[in-house]
Amino acid sequence: MGELARTDGLRLPGRAIVDGAAVEPRATFDNVSPRDGGILGQVARCGAADVDRAVASARAAFEDGRWREQPYRAKKQVLHKLADLIETHLEELATLESLDMGKPIADARAFDIPASANSFRYYAEALDKLYGEVGPHHPDRISWVVHEPLGVIGCIVPWNFPLNMAAWKVAPALAMGNSVVLKPAEQSPMTAIRLGELALEAGLPPGVLNVVPGYGEEAGQALGRHMDVDMLAFTGSGSVGGLLMRYAGKSNLKRVSLELGGKSPQIVFADCPDMEAAAQAAAWGIFFNQGEVCTAASRLLVENGIKAEFVARVVAIAKAIVPGDPLDPDTRFGAMVSEEQMTGVLRRIQRAEADGAKLLLGGQRVREESGGFFVTPTVFDDVDPASALAQQEVFGPVLGAIGFDTTEEAFRLANQTVYGLAAGVWTADVTRAHRAARAIRSGLVWINGWDACDITMPFGGFRQSGFGRDRSMHALEKYADLKAITITLGPQK
Ligand code: NAD
Repeated sequence: MGELARTDGLRLPGRAIVDGAAVEPRATFDNVSPRDGGILGQVARCGAADVDRAVASARAAFEDGRWREQPYRAKKQVLHKLADLIETHLEELATLESLDMGKPIADARAFDIPASANSFRYYAEALDKLYGEVGPHHPDRISWVVHEPLGVIGCIVPWNFPLNMAAWKVAPALAMGNSVVLKPAEQSPMTAIRLGELALEAGLPPGVLNVVPGYGEEAGQALGRHMDVDMLAFTGSGSVGGLLMRYAGKSNLKRVSLELGGKSPQIVFADCPDMEAAAQAAAWGIFFNQGEVCTAASRLLVENGIKAEFVARVVAIAKAIVPGDPLDPDTRFGAMVSEEQMTGVLRRIQRAEADGAKLLLGGQRVREESGGFFVTPTVFDDVDPASALAQQEVFGPVLGAIGFDTTEEAFRLANQTVYGLAAGVWTADVTRAHRAARAIRSGLVWINGWDACDITMPFGGFRQSGFGRDRSMHALEKYADLKAITITLGPQK
């Protein structure tokens, strides 16, 4: 056990940020830590009136151009400064993230916080590299196409990567010149609030980034139904994604982008060039972040000839992944985000057993004496491809292995869910790798690797994994509209 991250003197943010200032809350809710089930503090429970104020302030900021009309260079400086501040506050933000969400502090330090800073850096650099177009030559007209910011963007984010999911949306939305109202998940609001504070410190004008913590059905719904929000950028579950489309349809037809769940396959062929790397990827592809990852490789499809040996390797790796105190720097696997999430995962494990899957490892709650919400890494074999475990997202540390005999069968199984977010393929055959990449209907395909993620590459899903892309230059376009401008030339004088 290492030295626990220090929490003495740590300020636990809980107030909404509206129009450049922290707001005294009208109501609050308990912020529970998954680490020990204790109450960390009170967080503003924003309702429709608070969302109204936040949207009005975002609208005013957009209309008067205090941010949108600043020169590229000035916008760049602010976003870079924000990235600097995120890096300077790395330890504070990582500790808040770990306390709030239950993730290992080592991951928050090495991944979540640096990746969030990197999003702001990337879009700071990208904002003057999105060119318009000049229309085809016409003797009497000149036409061109420009990108215009949309206006007020409502960003609604989940709890699994609280700061990074916010950064994936807020950074490109601001870089395009929009104003933002950010609604963090009720399970993990603290780093989003700090982001709002740090943005002001970096010089972002008041009202350009507002943060409204609160419950989904209250603050989230109010944002979704608001008549003056131009777009909702959402990451979360398919059921809430569907609600947002309904809210949009019943209000002002605001546009919606959805990053939803997945049931991602990791496909291992017998000619896999590096079995140990594939086994590590199969284990960490599902157990990283306690399996609370939208791209989690929850289905392990293995060619039958090597299945027994390969699954045994994965189980051996998983055995060594022991749930621990998220604040301990040696912990690689922390707590489930909430009691509700833990109970849901345990219920799905029971259902998988009842459906006939063979439990090879885990399946229990542990560290109960801590008061925290810990579930062991869990591995099932002989999973029926039509069963709930193979079809529905668990969003927890549960892996299900399925065998296949032919390449066609592997591709068919890979596509046999309603989702299409990510897929891994392990093979030494370049032709098969190419065919797999085209045959698998998902937004991300990784060959001989897993989670080869980078801010430069678009991220998002096919089918019920959603639509719209985070990351890359494509995310900038998502927060813009195209305007076609034409000048009709007068007669030659
Ligand atoms: P969720 O859908 O329950 O909540 C997401 C956000 O929506 C939260 O901020 C929540 O408060 C809000 N919300 C809930 N009800 C709402 C309503 N009626 N109106 C408006 N907003 C509402 O999801 P979750 O449990 O926080 O996150 C887990 C899900 O997110 C999983 O399905 C996971 O796969 C998905 N996810 C997807 C990606 C991706 O990029 N594709 C990334 C991370 C997580």
